[in-house]
Amino acid sequence: MSFTMHGVAVSGGIAIGFAHLVSHATLEVPHYALPKHLVTEEVGRFDAAIQATRHEMESMRAHIPANAPPEVEAFLDVHLMILNDSSLSKVPRQLIQAQQCNAEWALTQQLDNLLDQFENIEDTYLRERKNDVIQVVERVLKALLGHPGVPTNATTPEEASILVAHDLSPADMILFKRHQFAAFVTDVGGATSHTAILARSLNIPSVVALHHARQLIRERELLIVDGGQGVVIVNPDQHVLAEYRLKQNQWEIDQQKLKRLASAATRTLDGTAVELHANIELPQDVPLVRDNGATGIGLFRSEFLFMNRPDLPSEEEQYLAYRTVAEGLQGLPVTIRTLDLGADKQLTQMEHGQSANPALGLRAIRLCLAEPHLFHTQIRAILRASHYGKIHILIPMLSTLSELDQTLHHIRVAKESLDVEATPYDKTIKLGGMIEIPAAALMVQSFAKKLDFLSIGTNDLIQYTLAIDRTDDAVAHLYDPLHPAVLQLVAHTIRTANRVGTPVVVCGEMGGDPKLTRLLLGFGLREFSMHPAHLLAVKQQVLKTNLPDIHALVAKMLKTEESEKMHSLLARLNSL
Ligand code: PEP
Ligand code: MG
Repeated sequence: MSFTMHGVAVSGGIAIGFAHLVSHATLEVPHYALPKHLVTEEVGRFDAAIQATRHEMESMRAHIPANAPPEVEAFLDVHLMILNDSSLSKVPRQLIQAQQCNAEWALTQQLDNLLDQFENIEDTYLRERKNDVIQVVERVLKALLGHPGVPTNATTPEEASILVAHDLSPADMILFKRHQFAAFVTDVGGATSHTAILARSLNIPSVVALHHARQLIRERELLIVDGGQGVVIVNPDQHVLAEYRLKQNQWEIDQQKLKRLASAATRTLDGTAVELHANIELPQDVPLVRDNGATGIGLFRSEFLFMNRPDLPSEEEQYLAYRTVAEGLQGLPVTIRTLDLGADKQLTQMEHGQSANPALGLRAIRLCLAEPHLFHTQIRAILRASHYGKIHILIPMLSTLSELDQTLHHIRVAKESLDVEATPYDKTIKLGGMIEIPAAALMVQSFAKKLDFLSIGTNDLIQYTLAIDRTDDAVAHLYDPLHPAVLQLVAHTIRTANRVGTPVVVCGEMGGDPKLTRLLLGFGLREFSMHPAHLLAVKQQVLKTNLPDIHALVAKMLKTEESEKMHSLLARLNSL
């Protein structure tokens, strides 16, 4: 039976492929069958991942800091024992051979078997080891995902897989970064949840908030996903299929045309220069940044380095990651945002109790100030990396000047500790603050005077201004970047920063939406940061804009009180 579902559009383009249903969140991995001749190679890939994980854990065990609690060693011993047990290191090999399936799939099947057995264990101590088994498996999966095999069922458009899930966390999504799904659809989520942002960064069609997709769609049913319209068509007939194939071709042609703009200078028709920077989550994103002609990284969401692992990354590991990005950008600026954990980006490694309203709780800079050791480690790592490129530091979720003062104190302390060791760092490193809480936007002048630059996080600014949880599909229809109150705050922030002479950038999703480029230019914005995948479409808008032509209409939009009217005025602005 053919039917159509409507959700919230997250990422444009059209995908046609077969549904692949996934159930529970954390360990969602690609499933694919292998031709017989690749089975031995797949077993080798599995063995290599076990070996790499073993080395990694042994090296951690050999470098336990002297002041670490004694449990750390015991914890690592248990994990090594679990890893070396044949139920993890051998049984999945047999599953790969018997079922001719990929290593990740075999490993998660075996994990499910083991977890079932844990349910029947009486002994509380042993039952609690369940989490250790999960953590070890996650480590091996991480090693496997770093060296993906070839998903053989994703080679032709007809055979592409479309992932259908009830929900996916940002941590799940980051695991998918290197896998060849043609599209994602989920029951829950909002357009600017971090899961959606990551889906967008993969530049594949995605639709969220479909409510019952996971329940109504069956494994391997044919789907069309129109990520621009937020539509999913299940079991389309031949005519619909043919129409969408045409649309898909057109989309691809348009994308190819955009590629020609990659090396063009970014200037409006009247000659005003505009900077287009990229947002990244992991060092692996750097090639995309360069391919799309970004002139810097405006937002490196460093918290993604902390996900899908049982431990916290050390100063050395962070330093190497930041240095890799800085060197990869060859002197172009790289803005590293300090940890923005909390809300929808929770860590398994840290227990802070359940907050009733996590987005209003101990998140981002609040968490870092409450965990000075964590913050100090990161600041030192960033400062050390700053010797190898042009790094800026960005602080998320500032709401008061006292948070900024405390932050400055921590940065001073970290610098002093490096001075004592004579470790080099950029002594003129710039510090910026995110304006993403209405309180900060309203008092932006005070922040602008104390900071080297400002970065407007529109995703949170909208969430906190309109009191709408950006991850909640039930209120997704109310999440409106064109709400007059949001536009007032964004315009006020840009104008104030410009007046004080403090550089300002928009790094939230509004900055990467080509429909809003002209409006933001009209507010006085000259620097945008967005997913590399959106950069060329935004550049195209900049190149087509003549600033003197848009001022009157932008002024009118700022006086408009109704959202509906705002939408028609925006359409007019974009057709000038
Ligand atoms: C924002 O809030 O707009 C932003 C860029 O930060 P994040 O999406 O990571 O919260
Ligand atoms: Mg934010």
